[in-house]
Amino acid sequence: MMQAAYDYLLIGGGIVGVSTALQLKQRFPAARILLLEKETTVGRHQTGHNSGVIHAGVYYAPGSLKARFCREGAEATVAFCERHRIPYQRCGKLLVATSPREIGRMEALAERCTQNAIKIELLSAGELKAAEPNIAGLGAIRVPATGIVDYQRVTEALLKEFTGLGGETRFSAAVTALSEDENAIEVVCGGERIRTRFLISCAGLMADRILVMLGIAPDFRIIPFRGEYYQLPQSYNHIVSHLIYPIPDPDLPFLGVHLTRMIDGSVTVGPNAVVGWKREGYGRFNFSLRDSLDNLTYPGFWRVMQTNLRSGLGEMKNSLWKRGYLELVRKYCPQLALTDLRPYPAGIRAQAVMADGGLVHDFLFAESPRSLHVCNAPSPAATSALPIGAYICDKVEGRAG
Ligand SMILES: Cc1cc2nc3c(=O)[nH]c(=O)nc-3n(C[C@H](O)[C@H](O)[C@H](O)COP(=O)(O)OP(=O)(O)OC[C@H]3O[C@@H](n4cnc5c(N)ncnc54)[C@H](O)[C@@H]3O)c2cc1C
Repeated sequence: MMQAAYDYLLIGGGIVGVSTALQLKQRFPAARILLLEKETTVGRHQTGHNSGVIHAGVYYAPGSLKARFCREGAEATVAFCERHRIPYQRCGKLLVATSPREIGRMEALAERCTQNAIKIELLSAGELKAAEPNIAGLGAIRVPATGIVDYQRVTEALLKEFTGLGGETRFSAAVTALSEDENAIEVVCGGERIRTRFLISCAGLMADRILVMLGIAPDFRIIPFRGEYYQLPQSYNHIVSHLIYPIPDPDLPFLGVHLTRMIDGSVTVGPNAVVGWKREGYGRFNFSLRDSLDNLTYPGFWRVMQTNLRSGLGEMKNSLWKRGYLELVRKYCPQLALTDLRPYPAGIRAQAVMADGGLVHDFLFAESPRSLHVCNAPSPAATSALPIGAYICDKVEGRAG
């Protein structure tokens, strides 16, 4: 029987994969650990295309993994940035209600913050105006713990620490086939066969396909949801001092177009949420036959479309019609004009959807005897990457024997 070359092999150099690799190496210093990433560097997909928000954990169902990991992750991310001198800011965020209906929702959200042990302040219209003169609303929730960071930089620092401890990485290394036997998993990568005692998949937009490679039929499918942004002109870099979010519609899975201060000083508007037709295609009209067929042949896709028909069409319209997009942000920042929305790269969310059309809200994992798969790690997984990595280490401890 051929010896396994590695104790742990990880697929995916996004923030979740790299955080997990580092924590494995810290916990099991003698373990042989290899991280495979198909791109030329870390963080080329979701990790490098997001809003850069260190979420405090406002929205998530109490008791869920998201609620727990986000709260712990916000603190762990800040501590990591301190240790590695990575710039971050705890600028706080405001969730702004712009109609009497949203005031009701805002109160429900405030209650959820209390359940999730998140410190907030409720602001009246006057207090909101005093805090943010360029923002209009009937009231707001202020969440002081929310912050901003560049997750690409965090991931690069995680990687440096991992390799510094003797962890191995290979880039331009796409995994194309897998097989599992009693003793090991064989990983095919660039024509080479690598045996590992245990496999951890953190493949983001490709999570379901890694399971299929291993002969496991996933009970979900990844549906890509594009998040399109604009950037405001530099003259608006100080238009707000907090991050400004709308009160989300509880029936919709995404947070709504927000004004985000980025750590480089700029301000972005977005992201929206429209179906993607190429999982890793960032251009508005990028299309992949395989990815589109994966959407169209999946009953869960049609059920999501049916359930969210009105909002989905609205998002699609605003994606193509900039003025509609502008109106979403003008609801709370009325001074912005069409010419203020400048192009900015989109991101693509890996959202797991069940066959009945249910969007998987929490982080989701799957396992085989010798593998563990991160199946659903959308926002706030960048914030939560350190606790997710620790959780995976707990789960796999003693299983690389
Ligand atoms: C628009 C948008 C905004 C967001 N905003 C925030 C935010 O403000 N705050 C927050 O906390 N979260 C945010 N998120 C979510 C966050 O970015 C993701 O949850 C997080 O980056 C997921 O990391 P990951 O490592 O799981 O996935 P990814 O970063 O996508 O990494 C997966 C990696 O696996 C690799 N891979 C896939 N298949 C293979 C293969 N066969 N072989 C080798 N390698 C492979 C890919 O190349 C990729 O590098 C946002 C996401 C989006 C899209």
